Amino acid sequence: MPTCRHCGSTYPREHFIHGNGPKTQVCVRCGVEQGLVSKEDVPVHFTKELANARFSAVARRYSIFLYIPFLWGLWLFTLSDVEPWGLFFLGLLVLLTLLAPVVFIYRGGRFSGDMARLSPAYDRPKGH
Ligand SMILES: [Zn+2]
Repeated sequence: MPTCRHCGSTYPREHFIHGNGPKTQVCVRCGVEQGLVSKEDVPVHFTKELANARFSAVARRYSIFLYIPFLWGLWLFTLSDVEPWGLFFLGLLVLLTLLAPVVFIYRGGRFSGDMARLSPAYDRPKGH
């Protein structure tokens, strides 16, 4: 994968603008920021809204693994010695912990679909 001359980031070939001279080895983001190409000419450019939507999809997918340790900590420090709610919530936590990987795998397809929907469609131009 090539490296951008300006920001030094490494991207797949289709994330670079096409051309010679000042446009050589410049990624789409740097090309738009420096005015070498317009936003309409680079469909592969990830706008801020698109990047935010992708980030929120990823956050939604992995947030359960952040919640579970938090809930376990909450249970340990507050509810563990309360009768009978400590035992009830322990059972609930165990169930949730066992179900989390199942739900994670089950929702994988929907996540892939969301990410595909949030990826700009782009045909690699000739010469790339
Ligand atoms: Zn760049």
